[in-house]
Amino acid sequence: MSITHIEHIGIAVKSLEESIPFYEKVLGLKCYNIEEVKDQKVKTAFFMVGQTKIELLESTDPEGPIGKFIEKKGEGIHHIAFAVKGIEDHLKRMEEQGVTLIDKTPRKGAEGLDIAFLHPKSTLGVLTELCEDKNK
Ligand code: ZN
Repeated sequence: MSITHIEHIGIAVKSLEESIPFYEKVLGLKCYNIEEVKDQKVKTAFFMVGQTKIELLESTDPEGPIGKFIEKKGEGIHHIAFAVKGIEDHLKRMEEQGVTLIDKTPRKGAEGLDIAFLHPKSTLGVLTELCEDKNK
């Protein structure tokens, strides 16, 4: 098992435009990238905190995963993402351990990372993402 660090924390917000000023003006972080992930029906804004990112997620479709999350729970922490090496091996091993995988094979997420989600019913209620930057 080689989780190297927390890659990012995903936070669901209603509006990037209304949320970014809190992170920039109050927390003093700098938004360095805004990117739409069509696949996930979200627009994302990224801030670097050490080697960990804050990923703000705004839904582009009320039927998308973030749209549904906000409707049910409101704004707040949506998921935690661990950086790993050998994401396919991790998924295989976790599945063998009885973890329910949302993604059995990695797909492309924001910033060109390979990502896969584990089901929160297998992870004590925390939606958990694995990420691997294969360009590194
Ligand atoms: Zn994420």
